[in-house]
Amino acid sequence: MNRQLVWLRSDLRCADNPALHTALAKGPVIACFVLSPAQWQQHDDAACKVDFWLRNLTALQVELAALNIPLKLLDCPLWQDLPSALLCFCQQHEISAVHVNHEYPVNEQTRDARCAEALGQHGIGFYPQHGNALAAPGSVLTNAGGVFKVFSQFRKCLFKHWEISGTPTPLPYPQAQAPLPISSDAVPSQVAGFAKPSQALIDLWPAGSAAAHERLRQFTEQHLHAYKDQRDLPALPGTSQLSAYLVAGVLSLRQCLYSAQMANQGHYADGSAGAVHWISELIWREFYLHITAGYPRVSRHRAFRPETELVAWRDAPDDLAAWQQGRTGVPIVDAAMRQLLATGWMHNRLRMISAMFLTKNLLIDWREGERWFMQHLIDGDLAANNGGWQWSASTGTDAAPYFRVFNPVSQSQRNDPDGAFIRHWLPELNSLDNKAIHQPPQGLFAPSGYPAPIVDLASSRERAIAAFQALPKASEVA
Ligand SMILES: Cc1cc2nc3c(=O)[nH]c(=O)nc-3n(C[C@H](O)[C@H](O)[C@H](O)COP(=O)(O)OP(=O)(O)OC[C@H]3O[C@@H](n4cnc5c(N)ncnc54)[C@H](O)[C@@H]3O)c2cc1C
Repeated sequence: MNRQLVWLRSDLRCADNPALHTALAKGPVIACFVLSPAQWQQHDDAACKVDFWLRNLTALQVELAALNIPLKLLDCPLWQDLPSALLCFCQQHEISAVHVNHEYPVNEQTRDARCAEALGQHGIGFYPQHGNALAAPGSVLTNAGGVFKVFSQFRKCLFKHWEISGTPTPLPYPQAQAPLPISSDAVPSQVAGFAKPSQALIDLWPAGSAAAHERLRQFTEQHLHAYKDQRDLPALPGTSQLSAYLVAGVLSLRQCLYSAQMANQGHYADGSAGAVHWISELIWREFYLHITAGYPRVSRHRAFRPETELVAWRDAPDDLAAWQQGRTGVPIVDAAMRQLLATGWMHNRLRMISAMFLTKNLLIDWREGERWFMQHLIDGDLAANNGGWQWSASTGTDAAPYFRVFNPVSQSQRNDPDGAFIRHWLPELNSLDNKAIHQPPQGLFAPSGYPAPIVDLASSRERAIAAFQALPKASEVA
């Protein structure tokens, strides 16, 4: 019978899906998705992200049905039980091979290795593809054969590969197979332990590949060329807001790269400055995928730079709670944190500002912020989130130097000059003028209902620099 299984995970698409493409070339295909709510909770996956998966699965099921591919759901709360559950499923459906696209964090790699072993013992093949990356991790290496730790060098090497072999292009859309006598399962609208997000949040993130491609089309047509100038301004729709679709795999990096190149006469390294910058951001995503695959410690909540494990982080639960809820008294930080809670997304410049504020001004461990972001982001992604947090905390690969502490007030003045973004999220500051909005007056003229700053920016900056200066040298730490 030679029946094939496509196990869908963070690749919820039919187009440009190498696992699906290979499976269809081998024999009749069934698709499955594993519901693992207990595991997702252990990974701090946000309720809005789980809801986004389910909504995208529902849309994908329609696309799969048009290809005569049934979608089955497998209930397996914890991955430790998956090898036997998947084997049982494969035997029940007479599957001879399973196809997946790689996921690179440690738990995912371990899960796949165990599943491959259990299936292999019963003669069922397990075939992973690098369908969510631009290049297979391990294929872009330093001259000494190591994984790049510096982004600019990684990008240069990737470009050299592209000069020789061309940029990766998306696969053609698959053709329908003959119908199978297997019915699809109904996708639930909710799973236990994950609350349904507000309708307002859901409306911001329409599900399905058609919605994702429409967003990509609008961005490339209307905003791509201005991206370099507008990408740091949170009040403008200057960035693509495609991260949730990339993380769930509704879109692939290759499709995004292709679209940007098409809008730039085929170029990736020159031509439109906006296109070149946006492609660089796509490569940041790729860079952190390669870091995650190459350095398992980043998946284990370990600092990339071992000496920074010794930073004397403060145990300050009240300050942490104020940051989480957007009550620090620093408007740009509070507006950013409220955007996160209301929309499941935060602008990149604000992620950097709020992460630096937590790790430097409040001197709170980056892992607290990393977890809070994961618990609330619709685009929460171990590789990019960990990379962003360790960059901001100066503990990571190619990170911001510890003495380069963002001043949130000057960041606010530069990137939200008339306070439009702050006014939207902090209406209690609406009466302030364009100067005061970034640093509200205290005492008699303090705006009512808005807290005073919980920390002095200048002295806390010095405290953070001193904490990093007190660290031993990297060479002294085993
Ligand atoms: C502290 C911190 C935490 C972050 N957590 C996440 C996360 O959990 N998930 C996530 O996808 N991104 C994360 N990022 C990266 C970045 O902020 C988001 O990818 C970006 O804001 C998404 O918005 P966009 O789609 O409009 O991006 P655009 O500016 O349109 O960029 C296009 C795409 O490039 C990728 N990208 C852009 N910037 C980065 C970057 N710095 N690192 C990695 N990929 C990037 C994203 O996939 C993004 O969708 C984090 C950054 C920081 C500083």
